[in-house]
Amino acid sequence: MPQNLLDFDLDGLTAWFTELGEKPFRARQVFHWMHQSGVADFAQMTDIAKSLREKLQQQAVVQAPAISYAHTSADGTRKWLFDVGVANGIETVFIPEEDRGTLCVSSQVGCALECTFCSTGRQGFNRNLTVAEIIGQLWVAHHSLKTEPNRTTGEVSDRPVTNVVMMGMGEPLANFENVVTALGIMLDDHAYGLSRRRVTVSTSGLVPAMDRLAERCPVALAVSLHAPNDALRDQIVPINKKYPLRELMAACRRYLVHAPRDFITFEYVMLAGVNDQPEHARQLIELTRDVPCKFNLIPFNPFPDSGYEKPRAESMRVFRQILQDAGLVVTTRKTRGDDIDAACGQLAGKVADKSGRVMKRMHKEAA
Ligand code: SAH
Ligand code: SF4
Repeated sequence: MPQNLLDFDLDGLTAWFTELGEKPFRARQVFHWMHQSGVADFAQMTDIAKSLREKLQQQAVVQAPAISYAHTSADGTRKWLFDVGVANGIETVFIPEEDRGTLCVSSQVGCALECTFCSTGRQGFNRNLTVAEIIGQLWVAHHSLKTEPNRTTGEVSDRPVTNVVMMGMGEPLANFENVVTALGIMLDDHAYGLSRRRVTVSTSGLVPAMDRLAERCPVALAVSLHAPNDALRDQIVPINKKYPLRELMAACRRYLVHAPRDFITFEYVMLAGVNDQPEHARQLIELTRDVPCKFNLIPFNPFPDSGYEKPRAESMRVFRQILQDAGLVVTTRKTRGDDIDAACGQLAGKVADKSGRVMKRMHKEAA
């Protein structure tokens, strides 16, 4: 099997080149070709000696996951479905805005954590994505978008993706090593050079892995809270039974010591009649009293047989107001890309019917 060079960060590539008997600067050149120029064909890496190019052709590939579907929504939201060789595809969504472009990246095929309102959780766990499959999502998006005018601004940018949110399919901290290596490539100035503050990992609260992320690669952190007390969170986010709220809040405080931003984003999917009542908002204020944070309220995106309903606009308004009155910063997620089924959790049923593939959703405010 040839080695996929997208699996390596620069240190890994350098080590691989050294084994090949090549100098470290060659690794850097190839790394630039791959990530900065989007070149996958060694023959086009013109400043590399022909003998080395031939050696690479024999032993290596630069291979992002194959695109099985790409679509652009009327509002400019862009979506790719990638074939990762198993029954289900993974999905990546790009959301252009005036001052930024946010890419929502997947980390696993399926998810083992079984949150009850999440279509990925319902689907179960298939496998972890490789580094090449994670960074390959950015590779494809970056290099195809940089030749196109931005649908919001009309401008062509050589850095179309300014923000990455690990909020596609899967629990990023359950695929820790591959995610951390891919994050390193996103941040590396020899590759995409993204700012730590503009790369966000979203987790349902794997406490030990949050501590390890703080040490290994502190990027912005979003925590999927969804409930203000253990009794309710045990039901809808089952990992809470292992890492209950007290431990989760303590982990958030520890994370902030290393974080590039001085707040945690708490995501809160509003489920009608389940967690959207005024008393829940009041409990949230108590719960998060010692954690500098912002809230991102997400109206539930229905999918077939979910058993949940969207909250009423009025309950969202009241909920938001209670948090704001306590001095909290609250954003409410707008849904974009509706016409291409790129909105949160919407795709599962429809697409599964058509193609057997489950696609996911888009997220942006956390970035
Ligand atoms: N596993 C990580 C990241 C992926 S999920 C996590 O849970 O944080 C990204 C976000 O989408 C989470 O906040 C998740 O709760 C939310 N989400 C999942 N299903 C949803 C749905 N049906 N409607 C709205 N948001 C949903
Ligand atoms: Fe997994 Fe996140 Fe979905 Fe929970 S919400 S099942 S952690 S992808």
